Amino acid sequence: MDGPSGTGKSTVSRRLAVAIGARYLDTGAMYRAVTLAVLRAGIDPTDAAKVTEVAERARLEIGTEPTAPTVRLDGDDVAAEIRGQEVTTAVSPVSAVGRVRELLVGQQRAIIADAAAAGLGIVVEGRDIGTTVAPDAPLKIYLTASAEARARRRTAQDTASGRTSTVDATLADVQRRDRYDSTRAVSPLRQAEDAVEVDTTELDIDGVLARLLELAEL
Ligand code: C5P
Repeated sequence: MDGPSGTGKSTVSRRLAVAIGARYLDTGAMYRAVTLAVLRAGIDPTDAAKVTEVAERARLEIGTEPTAPTVRLDGDDVAAEIRGQEVTTAVSPVSAVGRVRELLVGQQRAIIADAAAAGLGIVVEGRDIGTTVAPDAPLKIYLTASAEARARRRTAQDTASGRTSTVDATLADVQRRDRYDSTRAVSPLRQAEDAVEVDTTELDIDGVLARLLELAEL
């Protein structure tokens, strides 16, 4: 499941995983956790060499239970902290570092292989899943929505989790990250040729889920 931020990707991915009895992997949480490690080390997120060193050392543990996905960094529960503004601002340059992507894509493939070994499916969400992480995935979805709809949803999510933000500021942030993610040299955000595009601008979560279950023929 790929697409830009604010398309409802996380919510529908988790709901889909629950509905089909699959595991769930949030790859964005992994890039965010490495970014938090960079910030904790007091390193400039645009310094690729130092970011690489931090990423090589960081110990990530990602839980794949869709009703309670967990994220640990060096043993600490960082699930809430990685959603904060500081991490959101710094995550794009960190995720543009080639070695960071190589390390995380390796871990992501190992998690997918574990699920397969346990006889389970897995819903994986991110930016490069259909193109790079799992090019042979049986179903590839590319979620889209207008920038305004995405900013509105992000703002509602922030408010629900006690953070203050405005639609205008969020829209600027969403557009800045889209630009960065789709123009970076390594694995830019791009729709896989064989992905099915689902536009969520006019759909609520149940509507998106119904469409996905139809596509999965379940
Ligand atoms: O999905 P989320 O907003 O949590 O992702 C945070 C950031 O992580 C994205 O803006 C993008 O820069 C990066 N990312 C990525 N590749 C992925 C998932 C996320 O580059 N597969």
